[in-house]
Amino acid sequence: MFSLKNIVRKNILNLVAYSSARDEYTGDASVFLDANENPFGNLNRYPDPQQKTLKKALSALKNIPTDNIFIGNGSDEIIDLAFRIFCTPGKDKALTFSPTYGMYDVSANINNIELVKLPLTDDFQINIDEIKSHLKDEYLKLIFICSPNNPTGNTINTVDIEYILNNFNGIVILDEAYIDFSPEASWNNKLAEYPNLIVSQTFSKAWGLAAARIGIAYTNINIINLFNKVKPPYNVSELNQKSAINALNNTTEFEKNKRVILIEKEKLSKTLTTLAQVKKVYPSDANFLLIEVNNANGTYNNLVDQKIIIRNRNSIIKNCVRITVGSPEENTKLINALKIS
Ligand SMILES: *Cc1c(COP(=O)(O)O)cnc(C)c1O
Repeated sequence: MFSLKNIVRKNILNLVAYSSARDEYTGDASVFLDANENPFGNLNRYPDPQQKTLKKALSALKNIPTDNIFIGNGSDEIIDLAFRIFCTPGKDKALTFSPTYGMYDVSANINNIELVKLPLTDDFQINIDEIKSHLKDEYLKLIFICSPNNPTGNTINTVDIEYILNNFNGIVILDEAYIDFSPEASWNNKLAEYPNLIVSQTFSKAWGLAAARIGIAYTNINIINLFNKVKPPYNVSELNQKSAINALNNTTEFEKNKRVILIEKEKLSKTLTTLAQVKKVYPSDANFLLIEVNNANGTYNNLVDQKIIIRNRNSIIKNCVRITVGSPEENTKLINALKIS
């Protein structure tokens, strides 16, 4: 049986959170002399530590109660907080499926947590037989599943994610950074079924706000409370909160840009397939394509010479590169550059 109490670090369970000045009163006020702020300026006040307006806008769009939403300084902060809440350094472990997003590994190393990396199958799915023994490991506290996965672009099979959620007594973080590009539904409508599920999303990709550093975790209120205890009190700046709220108030722009990216992805995929140096274009539910070429290092260097940067993934998937879908103009430049090589 999953029991949250059993897997939270004791020091975090007992932690008394920092209480910010604005948390300690309710009701209206007009004179704020409680936080040693400067009375002059435009950005002189601390931001809302609970990001209430942003959560309300997200709640309305996603149909998820605000109590089930946590906002992080990018999803990278959510990953780091999960390690700090659930994993005792030098003792506990986390697990993921490689190849995948590099931050799980970096964050595990920063927190001195061993990250077990099980290879995905040839079609980039989870090998369920291989994971069974790990699920019983009492030191395993966190499992990261990235779906659609970066850098492979595919969606992880629902039955496999369900199996892990049902048979693991630790926390499952489902990283849905690319879900807005995918035809599949988010798992954030299944929070009530799985007390050990955290769904993470971001404003960095489909919302076009990578510079604003806004990540979202959807989970049950007990886990939300732990995240709120551990996060820095003012983890999301006023400017960043406003930029996300503005984006949420203009979903027409979001939908339009997303449509263009998806159309461009199909075009790019078809054109890439016709190039002599391209051996395979993998199917993608995200805004990037994983492609196998004859010589990934050669392709990469050739493009750098022409001032075009793609991601060389040769070191983790032989002769593969990952290409982000750009604007129509950028994609044309890419194709022309590839033809020159
Ligand atoms: C890009 C990406 C993110 C985004 O991280 P932020 O910190 O929100 O910018 C998260 N997860 C994956 C798998 C990604 O590829």
